[in-house]
Formats: sequence, C-alpha cells, structure tokens
Amino acid sequence: MIFLSVMSFTASIIYFYVGLNAFILNRKSELCRIFFLLTLSLTIWSFAGGFLYLAPNEVTYSFWNKVSAFGWCTFEALVLYFVLILTGDKLIRLRFFKLLIMMPALIFLLMVLFLFGPNIKTSPVVENVFYTGNFLYNFTYLAISIVLIYLWGHKSNSRIQKKQANIIVICSIIPFLINLIIQMILPSFNIKTLPNMGQIFSLIMFWGVNYAIIRYQFMSIPTSLITNELFNELTGLTFLLDSQGFIMKANKQVYTLLDYSEDEIVGCHITKIMKHKDMDELMVYCESIYDRMRFQDISIPLKSGVHIPINISIIPLYTKTNLLRGFLIIGEDIRVTKWLQDEIVKHKLTNEKLQNSEMLFRKLLEITPIPIILVSKYTGRIKYLNTQAMELLGADGSELIGSDITEYFVNPEDLCLLNKNFDNNKKVSKIEIQFIRKDTSAFIGLVTMIPSIYQEEEVALSCIIDLTEQKRVEETLKQNNEEITNLNRELIIMNNNLVNKSVKDGLTNLYNHQYMNEILETKIQELSITNEKLCLMMLDIDHFKRVNDRFGHLVGDKVLVTVAQLLMKNSRSNDYIGRYGGEEFIIVLPNTDLNTAALIAENIRLSIQDYDFGLDNYKVTICIGVVQYCGEISNALINRADMLLYQAKSNGRNRVEK
Ligand code: GH3
Ligand code: MG
Ligand code: MG
Repeated sequence: MIFLSVMSFTASIIYFYVGLNAFILNRKSELCRIFFLLTLSLTIWSFAGGFLYLAPNEVTYSFWNKVSAFGWCTFEALVLYFVLILTGDKLIRLRFFKLLIMMPALIFLLMVLFLFGPNIKTSPVVENVFYTGNFLYNFTYLAISIVLIYLWGHKSNSRIQKKQANIIVICSIIPFLINLIIQMILPSFNIKTLPNMGQIFSLIMFWGVNYAIIRYQFMSIPTSLITNELFNELTGLTFLLDSQGFIMKANKQVYTLLDYSEDEIVGCHITKIMKHKDMDELMVYCESIYDRMRFQDISIPLKSGVHIPINISIIPLYTKTNLLRGFLIIGEDIRVTKWLQDEIVKHKLTNEKLQNSEMLFRKLLEITPIPIILVSKYTGRIKYLNTQAMELLGADGSELIGSDITEYFVNPEDLCLLNKNFDNNKKVSKIEIQFIRKDTSAFIGLVTMIPSIYQEEEVALSCIIDLTEQKRVEETLKQNNEEITNLNRELIIMNNNLVNKSVKDGLTNLYNHQYMNEILETKIQELSITNEKLCLMMLDIDHFKRVNDRFGHLVGDKVLVTVAQLLMKNSRSNDYIGRYGGEEFIIVLPNTDLNTAALIAENIRLSIQDYDFGLDNYKVTICIGVVQYCGEISNALINRADMLLYQAKSNGRNRVEK
C-alpha cells in the first residue's frame, strides 16, 4: 500500500508538471486550458489517492475518497471535452452541449459527497445506481474519446497528426483495458478486487500524450515543420542551395513545373537547372553576394527544352557570424502575368482603335448634310445626334441628348410604327413622321433607320430628311401640272379645230376638196395590200344656179348644208364624204362593189328628191356618177365618175349613172 501511495503521489506531481507546462506553452489556447484542467483533475485524484491507500480508518478513507472524487468523477468528462476540442467537433461550441457532457461528472461527484460516508446509510438502490452509472459513464466517455482520436488521426492528411493520434490511441487503450479487466472481468471470475489504481494507470496514457508533445509537438507546431510545410506550399519555384550553388532541397513546384525528379535536382548545380547566362555569371562570384538579388523576365528551359519566363530572387543565407551558408532561390513563373500584360496591351490597342473609330464615326456624322440621330433601342432616348439634327429639332445637344425622342413627335404613337419594323432588326425605310420642334413649329420628316451598336448599346441609327420644302415644291408642281393639263386640253381642242378647218369645208362641215383627194390616194394605196374593192361617187346638184337666182345665195347655202346632211344620213359610217367644189360633192366608199355603191347612190338621189327644202314646191335634185376602182390612178378614177355625172345630166338629170 505504501508503494501504491508513493506511486500515486509521484503521479500527481507528474500530472501537475505536465499540465502546467502545457498551460504555459499557450495560455490563450482553449485546448491547453482544458488539458491543464484535465491534469489538475488527475493531480487531485492521484494526490488524494496517495492518502487513500494509507487511510487508517473509515472516516479518513471517506474524507480522501471524497477529495479524490473531484478527480475521478470529472476526469472522463474532461477527457471527452478535450478530445472534442482537439478534433474540432462543432457541437462543443454549444454551451448546452458542454453542460451536457459535464452533467454526469457533477451528478456522481454530488452523490459521492452527500450520499456516501461513514455516517450515512446509503440505500442499496442508490449504491447500485451509482456504481453501474459511474461505470457506464467512465467507460463510454473514455471509449468515445479513444474512437474520436482514432478517427481524427485517420481522416487527417498530415502524417504527423496521424502519428500523434496513433500514439495517444494506443497509450489510452492500455489503461482503459487494464481498468476494464480490474473492474469488470476479474470480479466476474470472483478474483479479489484489486484496489482502484486508475489514476496510476492513466500515467501510461499521459506518457503517450507527453511523447506526442515532445516528439511531435502535440498542441504546438515545431518551427522546422512550419518551415518544411511552408517551403513546400510556396507557389514559386524554391531552391535551397549550399554556398557553392549546389541544390540541397527544392519544393514541390520545382518537380511539377520543371518536370525533374528529386534525384535529378538534389545535388545538382543550380546552373544546370536554371540555364541562363546571368545565373552562370552570378554563380562564379556567388561568395560575394551579400544582398538579395533579382532578375526580371529571364527565360529558363524546362526539362522538355521548352523555355518559360520567370522572375528570380536570390537570397544569400548568412549566419550570425557572417558565414555564407547557402542561398534561397525563389522563381516566379510569370507566363500568366506576361499573358495578362500582353492582353492588357492588346486591350489598350483595341480600345484606342475603338476610340479612333468612334471619332471617325462622329466626324462622318458631322460632315454629312443629313440630320442623324442615334436613339437607344430600349429606352427610346437620344444617345447622340449631329449638328444638322440639332438644327432640325431647334435645340442644342445638352437639351436633346438623353431626352425621349417621342417628345419631338406630333403623334407619340408613331414610335410604335417605327418599332414594329425595327423589332425584327430590319431596316426601316422612308416612313413619314410629323415632328415638332422646341419652338412648337412642325415639319414632316422622312425617317430611315438601321439597327446599330453605339457605346455597347443597341441603337437605331436614324436619318431624318425634312420634307417641308419638298412638300411645298410638290404642291406647286401639282398646281402647275393642273394648269398645264388644262392648257393642253384647250390646245388639243384648238388643234382639232385647226385640223378640222384644214380638212373640212367651212359651210357644210364635210371634208374639203384637197383632203378628199388625199383620202382617195391613201385608199387606193391600201388596195394594193388589201385587194379590196373601192367605189367613188361624184354628185352635182341640178340647176343650182336657179336656186340662187330664185331664192338668193343664203338660201342656196342652206340648201347646200341640207344636201350635205342628207348625204351623211344616207351613207355609211366608214364612207368619206366631201364637198368637191361649189354644188359638187364626192363620196369615197371603201370595201364596196359597184352595185352596192349604185344602191347607196340611188338612196341618196331619192332622199334629196323627196326632201322638202321649203322652196315653194321647188324640187332640189341631184345627179350621181358611180364608178368602181379598176387599177387606174386617182385622177383617172375621178374623171370616169365625172364623165358619168355629165352623162346623167345629159340624160335628163336627177339620175344615177354607173
Ligand atoms: P347644171 O344642172 O348643169 O349643173 O346647172 P347649174 O346651174 O347647177 O350649173 P352652173 O355651173 O351653171 O351653176 C352653178 C352655180 O352654183 C353657179 C354658182 O353661183 C352657184 N354656186 C356655186 N357655189 C355656190 C355657193 O357656195 N353658194 C351659192 N349659193 N351658190 C353657189
Ligand atoms: Mg356644177
Ligand atoms: Mg349643177
């Protein structure tokens, strides 16, 4: 028992020492603080345990047991608490969860303090509840902690963390199993219960934790590890050289980017890897490098021979006694940076081109005499317009740019008309829109629009032609045209009259002598093509001199007019009737044979003979000579008709001779 007591006291000192060390290591870390609490609980447990083994009587035993309960009741909860914080479990951040974990510890501690003791008669039920509960609490908390630590190590990518976890798990399982054997398995085989030595067995676990702390800097990271990790994590190509320029170490990027293996790199001279004349020159005098040096944009080859551009920093590493130990070379792959720089230059050039083209565009708009407006397709607001457009709308640019184009429409709904065509991205051609200027004067504009892009926005490039002057000219032209048309009409009438006068006889309105000759010539010519028949009549009023003598010239004229009318009435529409002279008439009958012509002549003779001229029973009669064309010239044909006419006269007048 004395041995156990000494062990227990020693353990309490160890626990306290280790816990205090961890606490001093990092007071701000919650992990270190909990660890310290854990060691404190073990310290109390062990310290009181030391006295417990030596207790001379029940009262003393009970007292130290109650003191040690502050340790053994809280120990398991603190272990779980510590493990949850170590493994970064989110639940432990909840205050409620912390309380829940600590609850069994508090309950069992209170039970030990107040329900057990030499003067207290504890009921067997309470005793059973206490021992069973405490056992379950003890083993489940420790088992969960061990499993959590194991999983933490298993999931971790860090080799060190895995090792730490393994050491702690193994060193925790040993006391866990020993306790299980002593408290559960041995009593079930009726082997006499050994004294409770949990606090001493926990030393094994503690040795593990301490080993993890000393060997692998558990709960704090050693500087060398940080350096190694950082060295590997550096995004640049990083080489550690000795003072002669031979590579001692290179980081991951060197192997991945340059495509060398570790064997090819380590021990090799830097100039064999970074093949560049600057590097060659520098390494000749490497021992005289005192300050960090930089080389910008130097090209070095990859193993494949492809060159890449890099920036290099060379940092000489001196000891405190000014001894050159080596160099740190950091190379930065600047392919992306260079590409970006190139892109920026290209972008600038494109931008300049754009600006130039916009300038050119604006100049073109200014130079053109046509008013042009750029209107945003979506807002309908004016984006830009040339001076001609400003003059047309009667306002300056500051007022117009940004304003709604429909403010200048007499009918704002005209915009729908324009948009209807424009929505299909079609050209809108020559639509007449009524515009209203700032001074409220209106004009008709002929609008043509094409879709375009201006300052990265879809716009309607609209050109507006003021039709006011054109409309006025059109109106004048229309009026002039009407006047001309009227004049033309009159001229045609006059011309017709003139033509009539030239071809017609003024008294009878029949064709005159000359025109009848022309007709006859023409008709005879046509016969050579058509081969039709043609007849001719020569007519002469009988004893017309007597009419004049008896009734006067005016009555004679009337008789001539009436005879002319009777000739018209009794001939066909396509026959040509003319006054050949004095009281003589001539009729050309196209497409007519002699018999038909003679019949017509007879009708004419009868119609005159029977007509009442109102001349006191004086009968007006006529003689007619009818001939059919038989290939002779016109004069010969007329002469033949004349001959027959005189024959009719000689045969007693009022006759037709054919
Ligand atoms: P015949 O039966 O032989 O033909 O006898 P005629 O009297 O008709 O013939 P003549 O040649 O002797 O006389 C023709 C007359 O017609 C002479 C002339 O005064 C008359 N005359 C000719 N032209 C006109 C005219 O335009 N108006 C009138 N009133 N008389 C006319
Ligand atoms: Mg006559
Ligand atoms: Mg006559």
